[in-house]
Amino acid sequence: MAADASLGLDQIPVTDLKRVGPKLAERLHKLGIDTVADLLFHLPARYQDRSRLRALADLRDGDEALVEGVVTDAQIAHGRRRSLKVWLRDGQADPAAAGGGGVLLRFFHFSRAQAEGMRPGAHLRCFGQVRQGPQTLEMVHPEVQYQARDASGPRTGNGTAVDAPLTPVYPSTEGLQQISWRSLTDQALALLTAHPEALSDLVPAAIVQPLGLPMLHQAIQTVHRPPADTPVSELVERSHPACLRLAFDEMLAHQLALRRLRRERRHLAAAAFAGDGALRGRLLARLPFRLTDAQQRVVDEIDRDLAGHRPMMRLLQGDVGSGKTVVGALAALQAVECGRQVALMAPTELLADQHRKSLGGWLEPLGIDVAWLSGRHKGAERSAMLGRLASGEAAVVVGTHALFQADVRFAALGLVIIDEQHRFGVHQRMALREKGAGDGHVPHQLIMTATPIPRSLAMAVYADLDLSVIDELPPGRTPITTVVVPDSRRDEVIERVRRACAAGRQAYWVCTLVEESEALQAQAAEDAAADLRERLGDLRIGLVHGRVKAAEREPVMAAFADGHLDLLVATTVIEVGVDVPNASLMIIENPERLGLAQLHQLRGRVGRGQVESYCLLLYHAPLTAAARERLDILRRETSGFAIADADLKMRGAGEVLGTRQAGMAAFRLADPLRDKDLVRAAQRGADAMLDDHAAGGERITALIHRWLGHREDYGHV
Ligand code: ADP
Ligand code: MG
Repeated sequence: MAADASLGLDQIPVTDLKRVGPKLAERLHKLGIDTVADLLFHLPARYQDRSRLRALADLRDGDEALVEGVVTDAQIAHGRRRSLKVWLRDGQADPAAAGGGGVLLRFFHFSRAQAEGMRPGAHLRCFGQVRQGPQTLEMVHPEVQYQARDASGPRTGNGTAVDAPLTPVYPSTEGLQQISWRSLTDQALALLTAHPEALSDLVPAAIVQPLGLPMLHQAIQTVHRPPADTPVSELVERSHPACLRLAFDEMLAHQLALRRLRRERRHLAAAAFAGDGALRGRLLARLPFRLTDAQQRVVDEIDRDLAGHRPMMRLLQGDVGSGKTVVGALAALQAVECGRQVALMAPTELLADQHRKSLGGWLEPLGIDVAWLSGRHKGAERSAMLGRLASGEAAVVVGTHALFQADVRFAALGLVIIDEQHRFGVHQRMALREKGAGDGHVPHQLIMTATPIPRSLAMAVYADLDLSVIDELPPGRTPITTVVVPDSRRDEVIERVRRACAAGRQAYWVCTLVEESEALQAQAAEDAAADLRERLGDLRIGLVHGRVKAAEREPVMAAFADGHLDLLVATTVIEVGVDVPNASLMIIENPERLGLAQLHQLRGRVGRGQVESYCLLLYHAPLTAAARERLDILRRETSGFAIADADLKMRGAGEVLGTRQAGMAAFRLADPLRDKDLVRAAQRGADAMLDDHAAGGERITALIHRWLGHREDYGHV
């Protein structure tokens, strides 16, 4: 059946295209691609630059390059695996360079005809990834074209243009080859060229025109099939006007989705907490410290929200140790005073446990019982706890994800506090909210995070939230001195641990591993603990890692907190949750394996007391330039915000936000940090579209669907 473009490309199913049977259609459907328009918005992840030939002498490890040359030698090796090795040289090879300046092609699968074609003297053109082999640069299984020996056309040289263009590489899944993607997008683009009007530009002209960016259909054409003269760097860095146009549309869709959620919230009712603050006054009077100005400011911001009849949705950012917990406790008291319940949720058992203790310490003297619900509670214990929540007897409950479960019901949930927000997604925030909806009231939400992100980025990513920032640490903290040490000096570092502990201090020894495997992490920590126990025989050494059951971990943590252990060997499980002011030394093994944010969080475990604290980053040499730079940032900077800024400059926004963590909306094309002006334009544009009721919500819904449609995060209220 021929596709009928008069319908609009978003009405034409992919099955109308050639060579799309039910099986392929099903695969595409799994990627969220059902129509020709969906295909057009399936954008290349990167490009292969076949637009110019590279001289062999200029190749570097990791390059993906098109090269041309003459075979100087070819051998079939019968080692562990049979392979064909082919040495290629071009006119510019430098005989003095390692490997003669040529490149070695390696094939593990090859036919006799292929081997014949690559005999000495054969003239080849190859495209593939270059990597450093034991002797020389290599290409494993490059694509090979045999050139006629007298081929005219371009010879090897630097930057000589040939007619092969930039080849798009599409994000794909198993069983779908790039060649299929090219064929699919070829067909979709042909329809678009014939009927540009069939792809509706959902962004009003008044919003997009002032930006001076190309029309939507032009941008789509360029990004899928860049003309050969397109500057590659502009495409790779996504700074080409065509990329910017699509990035703008994406950002606009994102803003529309989140700002629409925010507006819809205005129509929801929440209980207004209008107590006189007597309970809170009693807590403040008992605290051994005064709130910092920043804490006080944030408390005021929260109070204004809580006093209103609309549900609060506020993100509280504050560096490790800035004192977010007490701010949460003060908010909780406002709810309790008005007869409402409070749920505080933490991402791990350890952190939930710590919260239960600090909240318990503050609230129980005021006669408020702090309940506790985790995955560990089973059977009768759990039923009893659920009963206390359902009856309203428990005013405050601390827990983990267990609080989400369907059988958890509250009598009058008024406030939800979520700690370490980056591990929870938008849809999870909503699930908890549902739990309070019984009497027509939706609970207020306070989300606390120690992952500081620059304001411009926060506005783009959390456009459905109001933002509060604690930008000040409590007084009396001595800054942490961070030192970067190679592991060849491990002995000295161990000596240092001995001296610190002999002087009555406590220390952490943190083991890291690249592998996600908890088992391997645990093993590394056990090995380190065994080694340290042998070498520091006079110290009391504890060990915690993810494989130690919580029931056994807790006494170890408690012993460390109470000063009955000198040294705690741990994996990154201690990242959140522990607060031991006497611990003033932290060793992090192989810090180069962790992200900056995580290192900063870890380091925040020390520097909580009066004595000067040290963090030793015990790296494994040699470091890459990027790793060295990152450790250096950590050495120089102590503020989480400064570190986040530096981190963002080195990496993309998506990585910093931890896109692989649950539910965080990442961008496909847009980079809100780099495209700050576009963020602002998208925010203005979103508000204009949402205000313009005449324009109708359908266009908005369609635009959101176009860019974010397959995401569960954007469920409706
Ligand atoms: P985070 O923001 O990392 O969650 P916490 O809430 O755990 O920080 O606070 C860290 C420590 O600082 C706790 O021991 C807490 O009691 C203490 N603290 C909080 N606010 C203040 C303050 N204004 N002055 C002194 N200590 C404070
Ligand atoms: Mg905290």
